[in-house]
Amino acid sequence: MSSSLLADASKILAKAMKYVSISEDAIEYLKYPQASLAVSIPVRMDDGSLKIFPGYRVRYDDTRGPTKGGVRFHPNVTMDEVQSLAFWMTFKCAVLNLPFGGAKGGITLNPKTLSRMELERLSRGYVNAIADFIGPDIDIPAPDVYTNAMIMGWMMDQYSIIRRQICPAVVTGKPITMGGSLGREAATAMGAFFTIEDIMAKLDRKPAETTVAVQGFGNAGAIIAELLFKAGYKIVAVSDSQGGIYAPAGLDIPSIRQYKLSSKGIKAVYCEGSVCSIVEHEVLTNQELLALDVDILVPAAIENQITAYNADDIKAKYIFEVANGPVSSDADTILEAKNIEVFPDILVNAGGVTVSYFEWVQNRSGLYWSLQEVNQRLRLKMVEETDRIWQIAQEHSIPMRTAAYVHALNRLGEAIDAKGTRDYYTNPDPHHG
Ligand code: GLU
Repeated sequence: MSSSLLADASKILAKAMKYVSISEDAIEYLKYPQASLAVSIPVRMDDGSLKIFPGYRVRYDDTRGPTKGGVRFHPNVTMDEVQSLAFWMTFKCAVLNLPFGGAKGGITLNPKTLSRMELERLSRGYVNAIADFIGPDIDIPAPDVYTNAMIMGWMMDQYSIIRRQICPAVVTGKPITMGGSLGREAATAMGAFFTIEDIMAKLDRKPAETTVAVQGFGNAGAIIAELLFKAGYKIVAVSDSQGGIYAPAGLDIPSIRQYKLSSKGIKAVYCEGSVCSIVEHEVLTNQELLALDVDILVPAAIENQITAYNADDIKAKYIFEVANGPVSSDADTILEAKNIEVFPDILVNAGGVTVSYFEWVQNRSGLYWSLQEVNQRLRLKMVEETDRIWQIAQEHSIPMRTAAYVHALNRLGEAIDAKGTRDYYTNPDPHHG
């Protein structure tokens, strides 16, 4: 494999392998994406001109079930990035024991420059281009960075038009009126919250004595900041792509969220108006936020935020990865030496795909659940898998990330073996009757 994001992402396999009795065949399978599709999407722009956007969909591994993963709209989207995100989805679904493999998709563009109608044409064009690659039993897209329920609704509708039948289970994260699940929008943050609460209880830490900095104020970042604030944690800093604010006495997250929502623009920095006067604050950059001396750091933006370049500056005690891949593998090694515990993305942000799974189940059964039922089931799953990974980490004295991969590899290895590997046929093992 060349030096790439995927190569970096898959370095973890070598570390985790030492603690798993998994066949060499299974590891070999997991090093490569199963199928990668690159498409060109023609879009008629509002001014009448034609623009072609590059799009991707990668199904990384489907041994445990149809593949699952979001679609992101972002200027940095490349095939390599989509492949590594699909790799993470494979392990994330296995960590949560969902009957899914991993996938990811993306379109390379700055979505802030398109009108709503252009975005609709682009989303429908993407589905036209990948329709034969997805399906309720094949591959199920969902929201990710800069995509939302409205976009998922267009995608589901377009797929249904192509198939000439209503197919709600082809996409998750849809509007509630189109078969979306209650609780899906807040699910990534809610799942992270359940994991943080579970871990803080194990560490015997009280919320009021715990300071938190959150990088990223999108769907995941803003909601996790608010959930932690309401549970009594002291949120001292938040940021968006434009920069952040810091107040050692703690920020009033609900009013910052309100201000950001009412100012509409995705680029709005919350402290240009009235909210700023609520509490004394300093303005800081994203890099400064990451280096704050806090108990908990929550990177909730995009990948590769903590790398070999800035890992030495990190002072937080615990990092909970709400974004996918915010800590590079080099940074992981540096943080481990500094005794900073990193709670990995494939566990911490798995609430999103878990409620996506609930949505898919509801779509297929036709029976819809209350918000309370969704959150209760989510809590059960997050706590169960957090506890198991914690035990694996304790048992082998390994970081939580390695433990999470060990846990996922055990499940993936068993499934790959059951399909037929050399070890499966030559070694008498417990899977044989
Ligand atoms: N995009 C989310 C993730 O990275 C959710 C994926 C899904 O719901 O399928 O986990």
